[in-house]
Amino acid sequence: MIHINQIRKSYQMGSLSLEVLKGIDLNIEEGELVSIMGPSGSGKSTLLNILGILDQYQEGEYHLAGTLMKSLSERKAAYYRNHYLGFVFQSFHLLEFKNALENVALPLYYQKVSRRKRNRKARELLERVGLGDRAEHMPNELSGGQKQRVAIARALISDPKVILADEPTGALDSQTSDQVMDLFKEVNASGKTVVIVTHEAEVAEKTSRTIHLRDGVVQNDTHNAGVAS
Ligand code: ATP
Ligand code: MG
Repeated sequence: MIHINQIRKSYQMGSLSLEVLKGIDLNIEEGELVSIMGPSGSGKSTLLNILGILDQYQEGEYHLAGTLMKSLSERKAAYYRNHYLGFVFQSFHLLEFKNALENVALPLYYQKVSRRKRNRKARELLERVGLGDRAEHMPNELSGGQKQRVAIARALISDPKVILADEPTGALDSQTSDQVMDLFKEVNASGKTVVIVTHEAEVAEKTSRTIHLRDGVVQNDTHNAGVAS
């Protein structure tokens, strides 16, 4: 599903160039549940943003579902982001002035799906993440764990092949974090490829494979005992 070959990425700041990814090789197959760990500043978010076609890389190749993700037109990039990828962030990224249902339905609004259809789909997904009775709640009327469930429902609404999550449990206590990880496992069991960036070993242990980044390269790629994928 995700095939990365010798990716290099530098950030330019004036005349300075900071190389963050220094030749990453990584293959993630369809249906895997993978975590990415590494020290702060090791390039985890940078890598995830490249996987999500939110950022560019300078060298190497990234194939998503068999297609090279490089120098895409904005229209093509948007197509892949909308149909192949779903995003979840540490700080939820919900719109504060929209209720849970509207937040979940938002991607379909941008895809010009009719209100009836997007609301029906959003309701289904809220049920699926256990928030059927919170559809009309505004984000500030939801707990952190509930907000993250709304964000996960939103990530699922376009039926993407891959879910990318950057520190999705970083703002949650450990019990809520476990519940959110259970939801990711369920999402994975339904056939989605799931990639989770985390700095918490307890979170990484719940995935079937952990990729360790250090100084811009893959230092270690381990299968976690006792977790079926
Ligand atoms: P953390 O665990 O703290 O989230 P990370 O592994 O996600 O860290 P990145 O956010 O990928 O790290 O950043 C890697 C390096 O790239 C850091 O040194 C950071 O300062 C630098 N960096 C990130 N984004 C930019 C940017 N837009 N412009 C310049 N430098 C950047
Ligand atoms: Mg980060």
